[in-house]
Amino acid sequence: MRFLDKYRDEFAKLDALDKDFIDEELIKTLLEKHKNPGQKEVRRVLQKARTCTRLDLEEMAVLIGNIDSETTQEMFDLAYELKKEVYGDRIVFFAPLYISDECANNCKYCGFRSSNHSMHRKTLSMPEIEEEIQIMIDEGQKRTVLVYGESPKTDVDFMCETVRKVYSVKTENGEIRRANINCAPLKVDELRKLKEVGIGTFQVFQETYHRETYENVHPQGTIKGHYRWRLYAMDRALEAGVDDCGLGVLFGLYDWRFELMALLMHTMHLEKNYGGVGPHTISFPRITPATDTPFSLNPDYAVDDDDFKRIIAILRLSVPYTGLICTARESPEVRADVIPLGVSQIDAGTRIGVGAYSEAKHANTLPDKEQFTIGDSRSLDDVVAQICEMGNIPSFCTACYRAGRTGEHFMKVAKSKFVHNYCIPNAILTFKEYLLDYASEQTRSLGEKIIEGHLDHLIGEAFDKTQAMLVRIEKGERDLRF
Ligand code: SAM
Ligand code: SF4
Repeated sequence: MRFLDKYRDEFAKLDALDKDFIDEELIKTLLEKHKNPGQKEVRRVLQKARTCTRLDLEEMAVLIGNIDSETTQEMFDLAYELKKEVYGDRIVFFAPLYISDECANNCKYCGFRSSNHSMHRKTLSMPEIEEEIQIMIDEGQKRTVLVYGESPKTDVDFMCETVRKVYSVKTENGEIRRANINCAPLKVDELRKLKEVGIGTFQVFQETYHRETYENVHPQGTIKGHYRWRLYAMDRALEAGVDDCGLGVLFGLYDWRFELMALLMHTMHLEKNYGGVGPHTISFPRITPATDTPFSLNPDYAVDDDDFKRIIAILRLSVPYTGLICTARESPEVRADVIPLGVSQIDAGTRIGVGAYSEAKHANTLPDKEQFTIGDSRSLDDVVAQICEMGNIPSFCTACYRAGRTGEHFMKVAKSKFVHNYCIPNAILTFKEYLLDYASEQTRSLGEKIIEGHLDHLIGEAFDKTQAMLVRIEKGERDLRF
């Protein structure tokens, strides 16, 4: 059987649907209708956003259409306020682990595409995964996202084996406590297997919701060429019980305004059909140059830094309870600029080649053949220090997912603002571990001040319990959590 035939029946079922949930005409009409709205209109939408309610399509279109500088600044300010209200000053840290760059697809923008013969293809063996994870743990990582191409060599059973391997690696103080997955769309029975091995978030980025563009950049005759197979990836995940889902758009492929509206449509579709649970996270990578990939050098709809800021603020205002991830594709300067607009998760100490953590450790170099170029290659410790200097508290927390607070349960906790009683104490506890076990002296002294400041804001039982746990951590206990 050809690799593509694997999903033939599923494709046929999706092809038979009259329509899907991305209504391109409606998006275009609303964007046209709300071009350059008045200040009054924008402020009306901001008033609603202030109540931490998910916005609807008309409201998002107003924010997208806004070009007035005064109310744009008000959007940025409110995005910052909402981020603090829902998430506090926490920034959650993770690092990706590239398991394989073998891929049967041929996405025009990606260095891993099958027609790119300048890549040395590699899939990590189990001992190699162990070595990579060991290095990541020794740097202080607790959360990872495992990244795969789409290839018969990395089928779901292989993926499950890699997840088990990742969780099995333990050092004196550390281990990876949450492994998220970024891979190709899967069938429901395949997703059930991933659920069983305990994955965190399941991420599949639609790349672009615009059908014509989608078909242009993902050649027909490849699995990825099937728009709806990808579009319904999260429906299948939720059906399989994998209830932390991560959506994303690859910005640069099509008009960002259209993509934001489509992301909201996708969110609304999931909420409507799966008990009010929207996406756990949204990612918004911008295309960066990839090895021997001309398309990636000059994308048709490249997003500049100003529009990138708008994208993040509008997402924060529109979907207040969804985590927003800004990756190391962006430079340190851009990341520092956009974090206050509502970002809740970043990666740091990132290496994106297959086997790149050990390569960087042994040869002290970055691999020259990568899926794309990263803009922020600083060490975890350097990024942690900068996040502290910005007044935020780095968090390595994995408590919710391990306590079963995922999907609907997570939303309940988030919406009732219990977040402050769980997440801030857990950030303090996991950050304390990081400072004791992995931080440089300079970062440790900065970090201790951040912990003191955040501890001062806790009240009652949360304060007493956190303080008692901090003492236990200082005495050598690890992995304490609320
Ligand atoms: N192969 C899987 C897939 O395509 O869904 C998952 C892994 S892929 C390596 C992860 C993501 O990297 C893609 O979904 C895409 O958004 C992003 N990506 C690909 N090429 C890129 C580039 N040149 N610059 C930035 N991000 C890129
Ligand atoms: Fe393969 Fe994913 Fe790259 Fe496309 S984006 S070529 S599917 S690794």
